[in-house]
Amino acid sequence: MAVERTLSIIKPDATRRNLTGKINAKFEDGGLRIVAQKRVQLSQAQAEQFYGVHRERPFFNDLVSFMISGPVVLQVLEGENAIARNREIMGATNPANAAEGTIRKEFAESIEANSVHGSDAPETAAQEIAFFFAGIELVG
Ligand code: GDP
Ligand code: MG
Repeated sequence: MAVERTLSIIKPDATRRNLTGKINAKFEDGGLRIVAQKRVQLSQAQAEQFYGVHRERPFFNDLVSFMISGPVVLQVLEGENAIARNREIMGATNPANAAEGTIRKEFAESIEANSVHGSDAPETAAQEIAFFFAGIELVG
C-alpha cells in the first residue's frame, strides 16, 4: 500500500459548532496523520475556484455561500491509502446515506452542510493541496 496525502476541509457548519477537535480525533483514530492545518476565512473567489468542477450544478451558488459563511480548517492528511481512507472516515456525501461512526453520520446537518471535504483521487488531491498550501507548510 502507498502512503498518500489528501486535502481535507472542516467546513463552516462544523467550525461553528466547535467540532474541530472531535473531527480531528476521527482522522487520527482512523490512522491518518494531520501534517498541515490552518484555520482561514475563504473568499468568494477562492471558494468558486476550489469548487469550479461543480460550477454547472444547481447547488453551486448555495455551496459557495455556505463555504464562505464562516471559518474553515484546511488540512493535509497523510497515511496508507489516505485518499480512500479519508473518504471512508468522512462517510457518504448525503448524511442520510452515511455509515455509522462516520463524521458525516455523526455531525453533518444536511447534504450541503456536511462538515467535511476530502479529495477524491490522486490528481485532485495534488491540485487541492497545492491550491491551499506551500510545500514548506507540510510537515510529515
Ligand atoms: P463530496 O466529494 O462527498 O464532498 O461530494 P461532491 O463532490 O459531489 O459535492 C461537493 C459538495 O457539494 C458536497 O460535499 C456538499 O457540500 C455539496 N453538495 C453535493 N450535492 C449536493 C446537493 O444535491 N445539494 C446541495 N445543496 N449541496 C450538495
Ligand atoms: Mg467531491
